[in-house]
Amino acid sequence: MKPSSIVTREMPKDTWEQVCHILSEQVLQDEFDTWFEGVRVVSCDEETVQLEVPGSFRKGWIERSYGPLLNLAFGRVLGQDIQVQLIPVENHMVPVQEPVKATPISDNGTEEGEDLPPISSYQVLHGNYRFENFVVGMDNKVAHAAALSVARAPSDSYNPLFIYGGVGLGKTHLMQAMGHYIAEYHSNLRFIYISANRFLTEYVESIKRNERYQFQARFRGVDVLLIDDIHFLAGKEGTQEEFFHTFNELHNNHKQIVISSDKPPRDIQKLEERLRSRFEWGLITEISSPDYETRLAILSRKAEKENIQLPGEVLELVAGGITSSIRELESALIRLGAHAKFSGTKITPEIARQILGDLYNRQDREISIDKIQKHVAEHFRVKASDIRGRSRSRSIVVPRQIAMYLSRVLTAHSLPEIGVFFGNKDHTTVLFACRKIEKQMKEEPEFKTFIQGFLDAFQ
Ligand code: ADP
Ligand code: MG
Repeated sequence: MKPSSIVTREMPKDTWEQVCHILSEQVLQDEFDTWFEGVRVVSCDEETVQLEVPGSFRKGWIERSYGPLLNLAFGRVLGQDIQVQLIPVENHMVPVQEPVKATPISDNGTEEGEDLPPISSYQVLHGNYRFENFVVGMDNKVAHAAALSVARAPSDSYNPLFIYGGVGLGKTHLMQAMGHYIAEYHSNLRFIYISANRFLTEYVESIKRNERYQFQARFRGVDVLLIDDIHFLAGKEGTQEEFFHTFNELHNNHKQIVISSDKPPRDIQKLEERLRSRFEWGLITEISSPDYETRLAILSRKAEKENIQLPGEVLELVAGGITSSIRELESALIRLGAHAKFSGTKITPEIARQILGDLYNRQDREISIDKIQKHVAEHFRVKASDIRGRSRSRSIVVPRQIAMYLSRVLTAHSLPEIGVFFGNKDHTTVLFACRKIEKQMKEEPEFKTFIQGFLDAFQ
């Protein structure tokens, strides 16, 4: 959803919308919704924009994680250097999320009919996630070729197409590129792109509203279903059951299904056997971490597109040092670009190393959620499996929340992904834990020192 905006006299009306658009291209959809929901512009003068943010936890988080990006985005939209100030507002009422509707495709090329139920089945396709912007390298060329071939001739090649790979390696980009392609070249076909997480939410919502039939009709009536991050359905039996029937109906009618996941079907825990075997009916293809040349090509392409000018040796340094995720490569680039723009200095390799210090460290140490859970469990003398479990006893809940917080701060995983590592907990549970720990750190200096001890242990 788009956060609301109050338009100030000095600022063009759609500034905030444009800024949100830039942000949403750099930040995962879930992450964007989580952090920017309820954020709004309250005032603006020559040099600063003030944003109201629900709560000080969010203020701190947005400042740390998205501060330079916000400055950059406002700067780009308003065409001048802008400093963004965040003002925390406690007890802010966050509006109920409106359904997102985008790129609707229907037989006659008009907007989806008003007679459809109010629950949206669509998620916005990022403007950039197209085949043209996808750099093909050794490690993604099979997945890319399969995606392109399915997009060219849906239902005529692999069905289902199952794409898997680690965080930030381009799964969503490829899935959405297929959506763009179909919208452009097969405008007679109806497709839905949706994350499994959202599929689940909308399913639950449809039951609550007594609109299950409409939900089913909508998903079973498409020609192409692109469902992202299917591993989120692990352990969610009801939604798996629903998806199983959707899958069967579509497959029986020769409709195309494309699925992405962070691991191959056989490794997804708590997935019904009959779904697993269906996922294995078609083609299973992996995207693995890109090699140096591909990383450099992606960086150069992105820098050019975003008009970020950095010396070649700096790009090489970034491509050489950040190896595990393309998302991290991009965030390094944005950070360096923002620094160059706002400090007015030329970025040298030395400066780049300083600016990217924490990203580099994160790479070197390869902190995994697994390691964090083990470390915290050992410290509290509990079992790591209990931390991932369901126990509500205080002796488990506290270490669990600390481990969730550390996972958020020390790894690149999004909230829903962290939830999955903690026994398929909902992302709101992770968010709650992070907020709670952050609040306690603010209120109790000893607790802050205690948590700092954990953070230092991973430095
Ligand atoms: P995943 O869904 O696998 O976690 P994403 O598709 O969200 O990863 O990719 C993370 C970021 O990296 C996105 O901004 C995406 O555009 C970019 N990206 C990933 N792979 C490529 C590629 N091969 N070429 C260009 N950009 C890429
Ligand atoms: Mg993704």
